[in-house]
Amino acid sequence: MALLGGNKKDSKHDGIGLFYGEGLSEQSLPRYVIPADTIDENADQRDEFIGTSTVGSSEACMLGGMAALFRWKQQARNLGLDMSKRPNMIISSAYQVVWEKFGVYWDIELRKVTVTKECLALDPDKAIALIDDYTICVVGIMVLTYTGRYDDIKALDAAITTYDKTSKVKVYIHVDAASGSLYTPFMEAELEWDFHLDNVKSINTSGHKYGLVYPGVGWVVWKDKAWLSIFNVQPFSSSLGP
Ligand SMILES: *Cc1c(COP(=O)(O)O)cnc(C)c1O
Repeated sequence: MALLGGNKKDSKHDGIGLFYGEGLSEQSLPRYVIPADTIDENADQRDEFIGTSTVGSSEACMLGGMAALFRWKQQARNLGLDMSKRPNMIISSAYQVVWEKFGVYWDIELRKVTVTKECLALDPDKAIALIDDYTICVVGIMVLTYTGRYDDIKALDAAITTYDKTSKVKVYIHVDAASGSLYTPFMEAELEWDFHLDNVKSINTSGHKYGLVYPGVGWVVWKDKAWLSIFNVQPFSSSLGP
C-alpha cells in the first residue's frame, strides 16, 4: 500500500492521501480524508474511522446509501415518525445511474434537483427546499456525470447546517466523489468538499477511472463508526446485531 499526500501539520490539505490496492487498513483511513492538522499523533483516533474497498463506486454508493437509510430509520423511529411512508434522497438530476438503482432496490424516492443552463450542478437552495423528515441524505457529486461540474459541497454543507438548526430529523451529506476525489486534492487543493465539512459523513471513490488499474476497485469511507450500522457477526454464536 502506498500513501500520497503526507501528514505535515502545516497545511490543511496535506492530510489528504491516496491509497492503492485492496489492503485498506484502518490506519490509512484518517490520512485519506481527514485534515492532518486535526490528527493527534498520540491519540488512537483511527478507531473512529471506518471504510471498505469495493468493486467500484457503484457498490460503494450502494453501501453509502444503505448506511444513510439505516441511520435515518434509527432517527425516525426514535422520533415516532410514520415508518410506512417512503423515504427520499436529494440529488442532482445529472447523477450517475447507480443512484437510480439504489432508489429501486431500496424503495427510496429520488428527489432530483434539475440542472439548468445557468446552474449545471446541484443548486443548494433548491436541494434544501426538497428536504423533509423523510430525507435519508443529500448526495453531493464530484464530478457530475452529464455536465462535468462539481456540486458546491461547501455551500450545501452551510445550507444544511442552517436547515438542521430547526429540523426534527437531521440531514447529512454523502459525497459521490467517484472520479473527483482522485483529481481534486491535487489539482484544486483549495476546494473544500470532504470531511473538513461538518455534514459530510461518508465519501465514495473509484480506483479504476484513470487507467492502469485492471480490476474494478473503489472505496467508501465514513467519518465515524457512528454513521454506520455495524453488525458484529460471530458465526458460531447467537450474537448478531449492532
Ligand atoms: C463512475 C461513477 C460511478 C460508478 O462508479 P464505478 O466505479 O464505475 O462503479 C458513480 N458515481 C459517479 C459520479 C461516477 O462518475
